[in-house]
Formats: sequence, C-alpha cells, structure tokens
Amino acid sequence: MQPRDLSGHAVYRAGRGVEEVARELGMEPDDLVKLSSNENALGPSPAAVEAIREAASGAHAYPKAVHADLVAALARQWGVAPEQVWLANGGDGALNYLARAVLDPGDAVLVPEPGFAYYAMSARYHHGSVGTYRLSKEAGFAQTAEGVLEAYDGERIVYLTSPHNPTGSEMGLDAIATIAAETDPETLVVVDEAYAEYADAPSALALVTGRTEGRIDTDDHDGTRTSGPGDATDARGRSDGAGVSRREDVAVLRTFSKAHGLAGVRLGYALVPEPWADAYARVNTPFAASTLACRAGLAALEDDEHVARSVETARWAREHIRAELDAPTYASAGNFVLADVGEAAAVAETARRDGVIVRDCTSFGLPECIRITCGTREETERAVAVLNGVLAG
Ligand SMILES: *Cc1c(COP(=O)(O)O)cnc(C)c1O
Repeated sequence: MQPRDLSGHAVYRAGRGVEEVARELGMEPDDLVKLSSNENALGPSPAAVEAIREAASGAHAYPKAVHADLVAALARQWGVAPEQVWLANGGDGALNYLARAVLDPGDAVLVPEPGFAYYAMSARYHHGSVGTYRLSKEAGFAQTAEGVLEAYDGERIVYLTSPHNPTGSEMGLDAIATIAAETDPETLVVVDEAYAEYADAPSALALVTGRTEGRIDTDDHDGTRTSGPGDATDARGRSDGAGVSRREDVAVLRTFSKAHGLAGVRLGYALVPEPWADAYARVNTPFAASTLACRAGLAALEDDEHVARSVETARWAREHIRAELDAPTYASAGNFVLADVGEAAAVAETARRDGVIVRDCTSFGLPECIRITCGTREETERAVAVLNGVLAG
C-alpha cells in the first residue's frame, strides 16, 4: 500500500543536533556554540528540572490531575477560564489543534513569507491550502495591518507572529485589532507569541479577554496566590479600560520552549475565545501533555527568576550582536538577531567549521541572511568574533 498523496507536503528536516555536528567535525560538543534553534542559552528552568526528576517515579500513570492543575494555573495567570487554555505538545501541537478545530477540507489559510514553516505544514496536514503575505526586506520586515489585509482573500485562518521569527519584527496591538476587525468574522487570527517574554509589547490576549493585561498576582487574605483582571471588568470580562474590545476571532499561541527553556519537553498552549473554547474536548489528542511536561510547566510558571535572567541575557546579546557584528542587522524583540551577510549558506558553513552554528535562512527565502540565537555572554562574544572573521575573509 501507499499513504495518501503527500507530494504537496514539505518535508520537515530538523536542524542537526550539536552531537551530530561535533562528531562530523571531530570536536567535542562542548567546543561548539549552537545558536541556530532559538533555544534558551541558560538551559531549562532549574525548578522545572527538579520537578521532572521528582515526577519520574509517577510516570506509569496517565496525567489526569496534573494536566488539570497546569491548565488551572495558566488560566489563573492569564485571567481566562480553564476551557480557554488549549494545552498541547509544544506550540506546534497547539497550532495543530487550532487547525483541526477550524479548518474544513479545502479551506485556505494566510501565512507570513518569510515566516515560521509550521503554520503552512499544519494547515496542509488538516487539508487546508496556503496563501502568503509578504514582509518586505526593503521595509525592514515591518509588519503592518495593510500588508496583511492587501493579501487577505477570505482565508479561514490568518497567522501573525510577534515577535516574528526569523526577522524579530513586531506587530502592534492596534494593527492586530485592525486585522481582526477587517477580516471576516469567520476568520480566526492566530497571534503567535512564542517570543513574547523577550518583548515589551502587551500581549494580544487583550483582544481575547477585552482587558489590557493578563497577569496580576495578588496575595489573597488566606495567603494563596490568585490572579485577577488588570482593569475593572464586568462578570464576563467585557470592559475595555484602554480601548481594546473583546473579540471571538483571535487566539494567542504561547510556548514553554523559549523563555522557560523547555524546548525538549514539548509544552505549549493556545488561549482561545470563550464562546468556542469547548471545541478542545472534540479535537485534542488525549493527554496532550505528559506528566513530566505538566510538572515541568507548573514549576517553570513559578520560576520568574529564570525567565527574568533569560530575558536579560537575550537583551544583552541582542545589543551586542547588533553593535559588534560587521554586517547589517535588523532590530529584534526575540532571542535572536537576523543579519544580512551576503552568502548565508557559505558564511554559516565556514562559521560551523570554526565551531559556531547559526541558522542559514535560505529555507526561509532569505539566502542572504543568517539568524543568530542569543547565547550566553561568552557564547555570543565568540560567535560574533568568529562571524566577523568569516565576513572579513
Ligand atoms: C519556537 C516557535 C514556536 C513554538 O515551538 P514549540 O517548541 O513547538 O513550542 C512557535 N512559533 C514560532 C514562531 C517559534 O519560533
């Protein structure tokens, strides 16, 4: 037999791991600086590591209570109902659930070009077709409502990424609100905030809840931590203190892979509008996140210090790369910087032989660009030195 016709699907090739590259170059993994996958330079949240260790002995049981506990904790953090938290196997898994819940066969989606490849892949897996809107290099990859709306042709899902991978550009809440308002009410606007912790901008969750900020932790009289809405709201959360109104056609994507350092754990989620949040029960793969992942997530959520250190490290590295690299770079709100180096494939290959792995952006349609993940100070300084050597040669 054969599987169905998959010729329209792109083959996903994961970047090579550090062990593989080290073996090939005859080096020790520790001698390599891997800045090609936007992983957290500081590693996982130490609290999450401890939680995974402790959870290991309970790995024989299905993750029932712990799954609900993590959903409840996220719901409290963001001030939404538990049903609105669609927990998944990574942000990628949450993208799948959204496509499953929204797309009928043949429905079209609109994705950024350049952009994150998985939007289109996930849509195709769910029998969707794919159109693109361009972020132009000439305009510094600026993201505008007009740019998206010009390309929009009634698609069922529009994917926005802020901060954007691989360029680092942002899209303001006003532009996102404009896109949601001017597209069809049956069009879902997915705002991918995988890198939001590294940015200053407010979350697009404001458009889901009608409130300007999600997270306010207060101490209850009995001493337990609770979260409340940022503004005075009515019981349904419809207030719009700062001029945002609550929408039913915007979903926000978040992940533990970046600022929490848990990319290997595979844990992410979507925050969806309340009126159709119950669709999760009809589309999710049972026990979407493992016991170990849920325990790690619960611990990581409390580990504000690790997130703060991660963000601080990335901000320093962003500045360092932009100031010291001998190539034009683009402003980034993520934990990476896009640089214009001419022949990206050749530059990346030469740097690799010197032990520095960066992302050649040819597959993003940017054959002249590399994307450099923010490392520790030491890693980032070495990467910039090596790249400058390659660029000078
Ligand atoms: C990393 C990333 C994600 C989520 O990745 P997961 O590891 O599946 O959580 C989503 N969108 C973008 C743009 C990313 O870079």
